[in-house]
Amino acid sequence: MNRTLKQYYGEMGISEPVFDFCAGIEKGLKERFEEIDRIAECNQMKVLSAMQKNRLSEACFAGTTGYGYNDTGREALEGIYADVFKTEDALVRPQITCGTHALALALMSQLRPGDELLSPVGKPYDTLEEVIGIRPSVGSLAEYGISYRQVDLLDDGSFDFEGIEKAINKKTKMVTIQRSKGYASRPTLSVERIGRLITFIKERTPDVICMVDNCYGEFVELSEPSEVGADLVVGSLIKNPGGGLAPTGGYLCGTRECIARAAYRLTSPGLGKEVGATLGVTSQFLQGLFLAPTVVKGAVKAAVFAAEVYESLGFTVIPDNKESRHDIIQAVEFHDPELMCAFCEGIQAAAPVDSFVRPEPWDMPGYDSKVIMAAGAFVSGSSIELSADGPIREPYAVYFQGGLTFEHAKYGIMMSLEKIYKTGKIKL
Ligand SMILES: *Cc1c(COP(=O)(O)O)cnc(C)c1O
Repeated sequence: MNRTLKQYYGEMGISEPVFDFCAGIEKGLKERFEEIDRIAECNQMKVLSAMQKNRLSEACFAGTTGYGYNDTGREALEGIYADVFKTEDALVRPQITCGTHALALALMSQLRPGDELLSPVGKPYDTLEEVIGIRPSVGSLAEYGISYRQVDLLDDGSFDFEGIEKAINKKTKMVTIQRSKGYASRPTLSVERIGRLITFIKERTPDVICMVDNCYGEFVELSEPSEVGADLVVGSLIKNPGGGLAPTGGYLCGTRECIARAAYRLTSPGLGKEVGATLGVTSQFLQGLFLAPTVVKGAVKAAVFAAEVYESLGFTVIPDNKESRHDIIQAVEFHDPELMCAFCEGIQAAAPVDSFVRPEPWDMPGYDSKVIMAAGAFVSGSSIELSADGPIREPYAVYFQGGLTFEHAKYGIMMSLEKIYKTGKIKL
């Protein structure tokens, strides 16, 4: 059996030393994987229960055109999201073009001129710098007279509670908390830590709106930030909650008032949630959500597997192989552009789509240094599908995520190791 598997991998470009090394790593992960299975099982029940409670029926898949009035499928979808995230309401739309758009919508709909936004967890995701106006940009919050304050995490990754207390002032209207590390080498925040942070902030300023950028975090844990006090949780449907099937879209889940403001901003004052044709994507959104706990499970296992592989070889991996997981991202620091690119070439070569192309570093809108990206996805740019990327700058870290199945992601990681092995810079 094992011999046959080795032959299959051999035909797919995996040499014997790489195969044997990875087989040894996987053997040691049995208990970690069982824990991940258990979380997925609970989250599957959560999604299923929400679908039953909202009486999801075949009629919901019909879709609408034009204004999209009385779209029962859209209403069921949003009811289901609200129940899964345990919020009063939700906005889940194909008209929300990506995660950045969902976050910009969340910020721009709640903030008014003269208000201040606070990030108590350091620098936000690269693309949000232009939304906020940290880097000058047309249409930013700064252009509308909305100011921004940031409190960095302390060197050990903990919250700077003293600094946060000082930063809160009369203008502080909204707080943005990024769950996932993004392109920063800091720990991802657990839902529990986010809860403690929100409690601290609300004790000082109860009316502040706490938003969590939930990108890459959905279904990794048993609960979501909306269960520990967040007024808004926001994310992309071509990441975790789309389950690989959503072809586009974003979501906001939160309090009735926050969602109403977001809807009036997305469509128009007066119209809000009542319009927005779904054009037939509702069944893909729902089927993707249904699969999401399982898909995320595979992606988390892949991240743990990658961490173990590269940590065993002496590279710094974030999170390390013992830490608990709060998102699907695995960072590996190579401190070497050649190894970083070799890693990405391996991921690309393992893809079902575009496996024959070679990723090259390029200038990407919204990012301030060149970025290399490996992705061969059914949905363009989807990063719940196996993908790897990272900015070409110290520490030359690759951020690896996704995989619609663990089997594919595992092969991708083995292929990345194969390419790195071939540079002659590592020994197995
Ligand atoms: C991906 C991501 C975003 C932006 O999403 P896009 O869909 O790429 O625009 C924002 N924040 C975090 C933490 C992300 O991972």
